[in-house]
Amino acid sequence: MGEINSAENSIRDCVVDGNILPLTSTCNTRCVFCSHRFNPPEVRVYRIPPRTLASIKNALPFIDPARPIVIGESVTRIIEGEPFTHPEIAGILRLLRSAFPRTPVRLTTNGILLDEDMAHLLRRLGNITLNLSLNCMGERNRNFLLGDNQAGAAVNSVKLLKKYGIPFHGSVVAMPHLTGWDDLENTIRYLSWHEAETLRVFEPGFSRFAPPELQFSRTLRAELESFISRLRRIINIPIISEPPFIGSLEAEVAGVIAGSPAAGAGLKPGDVITEVNGSGVNSRVQAFGRILKAANPEVAVKRGSEPPMAFCIRKGRGERSGLVMHYDLDPGLIDDMARVARRRRARTVLLLTSPLAAPVLRQGLERFWEEGADVETLEVENHFFGGSIRAAGLLTVGDMGDCLGKYLAASTTGKPDLVLLPGLAFDRTGSDLTATPYTRLEEEFGIPMEAI
Ligand code: SF4
Repeated sequence: MGEINSAENSIRDCVVDGNILPLTSTCNTRCVFCSHRFNPPEVRVYRIPPRTLASIKNALPFIDPARPIVIGESVTRIIEGEPFTHPEIAGILRLLRSAFPRTPVRLTTNGILLDEDMAHLLRRLGNITLNLSLNCMGERNRNFLLGDNQAGAAVNSVKLLKKYGIPFHGSVVAMPHLTGWDDLENTIRYLSWHEAETLRVFEPGFSRFAPPELQFSRTLRAELESFISRLRRIINIPIISEPPFIGSLEAEVAGVIAGSPAAGAGLKPGDVITEVNGSGVNSRVQAFGRILKAANPEVAVKRGSEPPMAFCIRKGRGERSGLVMHYDLDPGLIDDMARVARRRRARTVLLLTSPLAAPVLRQGLERFWEEGADVETLEVENHFFGGSIRAAGLLTVGDMGDCLGKYLAASTTGKPDLVLLPGLAFDRTGSDLTATPYTRLEEEFGIPMEAI
């Protein structure tokens, strides 16, 4: 009963917090890189059967019509499977469209079950954008990497999306050490030919539980970076790397969607946005957010060694500009941290974060931190998952406690007044992926803490 309630609570949290509508944990493939495989046994995630239409109807009042409805995205405790395996997917999409006639729907799929009838329905319902995780194209690679023995179906789904004019973004988990670089390049080119709006290339990750053949050398990231920069020069769609290769908070444009207001205005990949409507911008997230909110924003741009330029992006308030930028840092996060430090009257603040997020956070603190309190960042290694895992959202209370213990043992200045923890690692009850609350750390170390 406890498990069912926890799954129900997690489903409700998905809808309320993220406008994410979980449908089913069933999947029709078995990807070797699937984040649900090779987890430590203590990870508390929930597998759900296809949800009934009645339970989906019950969730509708919690959906925010002003934000896109997200389907098939695995970002929570619920193991999200392939939406098109749901026996009532057509009815669910019709239900959503009749309840929310103007709300965009974003659906992530592997494309295997996307046939002519479904493509027709998606076009008829309108305002549905797909994230198509194609991953690889070659028959042998699809079989080996994804456990997909009908390679033609997913590959054909890309043609159907183009034929029916359904907007889509392509994605691949780059496993060139297993599939070869040619298949990776062919897959990206294929998605580009069929007019994907953008393409996301994910660097794979492996935990300490992954078999040796799935592990890769630390040089893969650098190889991937040079592979992507070469492709950016010859392929006409914005390619986004996840996690991003970013060295600064400069608001650099990673790409511009063809036919978009930003493309019409003349913006190009590599441009650096320095001002929006006359006020300076300090990060990609800030520039992107201001442009999104504004009607016909005027942007000042630095383009290589050319003199400063100005463009007007003709679009409505809240309408997408078509600019594609990597996610770096929301200055609002630093404001929130400062607010907590003030409220707690802290003079020394220790910020725990992941090795992946630390460089950007340090730059953000240098740029935006205006409090009198001293703030220091502490990088927490992920020993719980181990392997190549470095994301803040996968840190656990155990790893944070070990790291903090060592830091305090070596500290010559004593305990900080406040410890800030990465909010991404905790659910709304303040518990990590193993259902351990961070209040345990407060009790153990006797320091006030907040997840932010
Ligand atoms: S399609 Fe997604 S959910 Fe299914 S096995 Fe692959 S990664 Fe996992």
